Amino acid sequence: MVLLGAPGAGKGTQAYELARFLDAPHISTGDIFRENLRNKTELGQRAEAYMNSGQLVPDSLVVEIVRDRLAQPDCQNGYVLDGFPRSVGQAEALDAFLEERGEQLDHVIQFDVDEEEIISRLTARRSCVDCGAIFNMRTDPPEERGCPEGRDISTCDIVQRSDDTEETVRERIRVYRESTQPLLDYYALTGVLSVVDSSGAGPAEVFERVKAIVGADGAKKTP
Ligand code: AMP
Repeated sequence: MVLLGAPGAGKGTQAYELARFLDAPHISTGDIFRENLRNKTELGQRAEAYMNSGQLVPDSLVVEIVRDRLAQPDCQNGYVLDGFPRSVGQAEALDAFLEERGEQLDHVIQFDVDEEEIISRLTARRSCVDCGAIFNMRTDPPEERGCPEGRDISTCDIVQRSDDTEETVRERIRVYRESTQPLLDYYALTGVLSVVDSSGAGPAEVFERVKAIVGADGAKKTP
């Protein structure tokens, strides 16, 4: 399953929920890069300047990471891709990988959101380093929702992303329009593309719309 959408459209939040619902791995290329940045790996260092300025990390770097991740045993029965592919080149690489494995995409879900709402959502966004949960300081603060893994929320490491500043968000939206939006035409031809309007809706409401697409038992496969 692939989740697409502008930054702040809610794909990270929905991917997190969907992965729990389907009991499938949630694969976020952004999270993989951020983890490498924190651990000061070579990959993290190579990606850092692109990420901090809101640009895409070059396809050659991203594709290798995703290839390695999808080859892990936990991906055998399906996975939720969040933030990949982000360019036609990446989508073609994913297609080649799927073909090699005799797999196909069950769903591509595009989240549509009002651009004004993106800025307000992202500047209020915080996420948990430990479990990946995403919060909004205005509408869904961590103290109110608590830790989804049942820990004491005051011990959770909740941070703001360095690229969630207004200036970088505007650049990320521009890059999205230029490089990622063409994927909608690409996936429209596959017949597995669905569009979910996430403007003015809370995460729970949007998740109901997602569930209506993937079905009550989702795309979960038995081994
Ligand atoms: P995200 O967490 O998905 O918003 O990603 C954060 C940043 O990581 C992006 O702004 C890019 O710099 C980089 N990134 C994540 N996924 C990709 C991808 N598929 N292709 C290129 N760059 C990516």
